[in-house]
Amino acid sequence: MTPRDPMACQDSQSPQAVQQHEGQLTASVPHVVVITGIGMSAESGRFHFRDAEHGLCKNFDPAEWATTQAWQIAQARLWAWYEWRRAKVMAAQPSAGHLALAALEQKCKVTVITQNVDDLHERAGSTKVIHLQGSLFAPRCIACHQPGQFASDPMPPDEVLGEIDPPTCKHCGSKIRPGVVWFGESLSEDAWRQATEALASADVLLIVGCSGTLEAARGLPMIAEERGALYVVIDPDEAPCAKSYFDQLWRANPADALDKILELL
Ligand code: ZN
Repeated sequence: MTPRDPMACQDSQSPQAVQQHEGQLTASVPHVVVITGIGMSAESGRFHFRDAEHGLCKNFDPAEWATTQAWQIAQARLWAWYEWRRAKVMAAQPSAGHLALAALEQKCKVTVITQNVDDLHERAGSTKVIHLQGSLFAPRCIACHQPGQFASDPMPPDEVLGEIDPPTCKHCGSKIRPGVVWFGESLSEDAWRQATEALASADVLLIVGCSGTLEAARGLPMIAEERGALYVVIDPDEAPCAKSYFDQLWRANPADALDKILELL
């Protein structure tokens, strides 16, 4: 374990960062916890709501549509937007970074805590994935909160429909809503509990593709820090890194960095 180095941000900005840190990871690591953000899925496509080019977003701020208020007044439009986003994800493939992270499970216990709502970690083969902000693939009843079913596969992403009626709950007859956390809503208590439990037993914490910010996951790294876990930030962007007490900052893309970690563990 290396001593914490608050200047690591300044020391590790070259593409050679992967090589520089070689040998600094311990040889046997029982539990690696990885927090991923939008940068993790960037190589697979652009389907974050901020990137979405669906017609619904052209005249409105998507952030205003990801709310319960929008659902109350425009269910069919909102459901169509989420179906379009689901179609975009289904048309995408896991990136080399997703695959490298899944391959880490060959070496050690891995828990993925993601701020993303896509299913690319699961499709890459990761078996323990916690979705802090919900999932495009886990719709639920607006009233009784039971898991819901999609009526069908979504239309191809190039066939944009302005309105689609959401399906109906088979338990209570209410409408099924998207499974993502909307603005103004609390994160899932169950997801948060699972995340905190994982971090409480982390030996290594990797922050991947979060561009220096931890939105939903803010506060979580502290749990692993207090335990003394090796804290590594992986981010190719020159965005200012979150000034936290990480041990290492790797200015490398997720696939290269995770491939190297796979080698080292
Ligand atoms: Zn219901």
